[in-house]
Amino acid sequence: LTVLGIETSCDETAAAVVCGPAHKKILSNTIRSQIDEHTEFGGVVPEIAARAHIEILDRIVAEAMNEAGCGWDDIDAIAATAGPGLIGGVIVGFMTAKAIAMAAGKPIVGVNHLEGHALTARLTDDLEFPFLLLLVSGGHSQFLLVRGVGDYERLGTTIDDAIGEAFDKTAKLLGLPYPGGPHVEKMAAKGDVSRFRLPRPLLDRPGLDMSFAGLKTALRTQAKKLEPVDEQTIADLCAAFQRSVSDVLAARTRSALDLFRTRHPGVKPAIVVAGGVAANQEIRNSLLAAAEEADARFIAPPMRLCTDNAAMIAWAGIERLRLGPVDDMSLSPRPRWPLDSANAGVLGAGK
Ligand code: ATP
Ligand code: MG
Ligand code: FE
Repeated sequence: LTVLGIETSCDETAAAVVCGPAHKKILSNTIRSQIDEHTEFGGVVPEIAARAHIEILDRIVAEAMNEAGCGWDDIDAIAATAGPGLIGGVIVGFMTAKAIAMAAGKPIVGVNHLEGHALTARLTDDLEFPFLLLLVSGGHSQFLLVRGVGDYERLGTTIDDAIGEAFDKTAKLLGLPYPGGPHVEKMAAKGDVSRFRLPRPLLDRPGLDMSFAGLKTALRTQAKKLEPVDEQTIADLCAAFQRSVSDVLAARTRSALDLFRTRHPGVKPAIVVAGGVAANQEIRNSLLAAAEEADARFIAPPMRLCTDNAAMIAWAGIERLRLGPVDDMSLSPRPRWPLDSANAGVLGAGK
């Protein structure tokens, strides 16, 4: 199968052509980030995002098709994100995909964006079900048990801010530019991690839920006491924040791996990390250490496939089509669409 994927659920306009499932190959993976449009507002503005998707999507699709060397005759299906996400962008992408599907006479697959993240590691690595996914991005922070295509269980999630969001808010608070993650990481490298002690929220409680809003508040309180904060203090606060987040993620990963072993005895656990926060080296290292300690496989797909992209959407389409014909022409875009809901993915899409 050769599938065109389209992704527009947040601030990346993306299109890709992917082959599979037998001979997996990414023929093209075109991404245009809107970061420049949103930077001055310190975050993604939904209305601006939707307009930017409209303006550029046609060109991005054409580019992806060109680079893949494909005409419509070579394409077997169109897969597009149908949710969850910023609804304006999702509508632009999914409706464009429907129009292409209708004009070219191809089936359309409406993909759950989170399912795209969940299945990426099967495109990049040899990975069998079941496995664990830790999704850490600007909009999501959750542990998922991936049992099969369309068969997901959310084991734990943040009860307040997503991790990327916490990085972004912390950066803003300290006067660092948006998006904050990379800047916090850079400052943290120059910081003294032992100067401030921030909490490890929720770790005193069992389960796999997480919380990051309190961390940011604790950091604000510390910073307030020292105003005006100098460069070194900012670096020290960044280091403390990053260490705290890494510790929380590592602890929850250990528990997730324990839980996996009780659910699937005899299966060597694998944990996949996805989302923009996976770019953080300290977080990666502590996840890797937690996995090694538990004799589990740790898989971090290449960064361009960890953050929002259309290759993962095309691949999720291939995984769905492998199980049988799909026709999601009557599916409507959804702002909210939990992956573990009854109608996520293949189980009931289109109904
Ligand atoms: P979603 O995919 O959940 O809809 P999103 O588009 O915001 O949301 P991504 O593009 O995957 O998610 O990731 C962006 C987030 O990752 C931002 O919050 C950014 O600050 C964070 N991030 C990027 N690089 C780093 C880093 N080195 N350390 C920590 N966080 C980072
Ligand atoms: Mg993004
Ligand atoms: Fe995403």
